[in-house]
Order: sequence, then structure tokens, then C-alpha cells
Amino acid sequence: MTTAYTGPGERASGLSRAAPSAYSVTVECRPGCAACCIVISISSPLPGYPEGKPAGIPCPGLTSDNLCRLWGTDAYPGVCREFRAGPEYCGADNADARRLLAAQERATTG
Ligand code: SF4
Ligand code: SF4
Repeated sequence: MTTAYTGPGERASGLSRAAPSAYSVTVECRPGCAACCIVISISSPLPGYPEGKPAGIPCPGLTSDNLCRLWGTDAYPGVCREFRAGPEYCGADNADARRLLAAQERATTG
């Protein structure tokens, strides 16, 4: 199953450098999940965060219902364009995604 952008999840972060290339299976992003917009750090400039945001801080691009207000605009970060929902990040549900991403963040930031 392949995916198209459906939510705030198609964004990259420091995670991308650790993403195993063997993962070719993609999953559908769950709109409203936003785990990857909150749990992990982002190195690209964001509104209010010119040097990116730290892990655990919701991206200021999130709406109150955890969708991306920047998608489709010039401000949409390149790292987010590159990110693809995948089982290694998204897990089985939103709680699983937060757990997996927290582990990935720890692994990539030491
Ligand atoms: S800009 Fe922020 S809210 Fe939008 S996809 Fe990227 S991390 Fe998520
Ligand atoms: S963790 Fe996965 S399901 Fe959740 S918002 Fe990000 S890409 Fe979508």
C-alpha cells in the first residue's frame, strides 16, 4: 500500500538519517495523529523557531486538531516534504507512533 499526503505526518527530521533503507512498505498517515510533528526534533526553520524545534514540543504549524497549517504553502519545510509515513514510525496507532518516534529520537540524538 502506498500513501499520499493526508496529514501532518509527511515530514522529516533528524530521523531521516537513521531510517533503514530496507523499509519499502509505506502506510497511510493518520490525520490528527501528529506524533511526528510533536515527539521528534526538527532542524528546519519553523514559525517561531528559526532554528527548528526541540523534541517533545508541538510544531507551531499544527492546528488545534493536529493538522498541518503550513502544508501547501511556501513555509512548508523541506524536511516535511521528504518524510513518508511508514510502519517504523507510525506503528499501529497514535500511541504506538509516539513510542516508536521517541525511541528513534533517542537513538538519533544520543
Ligand atoms: S510543518 Fe510542522 S505541523 Fe506541518 S508537517 Fe511539518 S512538523 Fe508537522
Ligand atoms: S507518525 Fe505517522 S501517522 Fe502519525 S502523523 Fe506522523 S506520519 Fe502520520
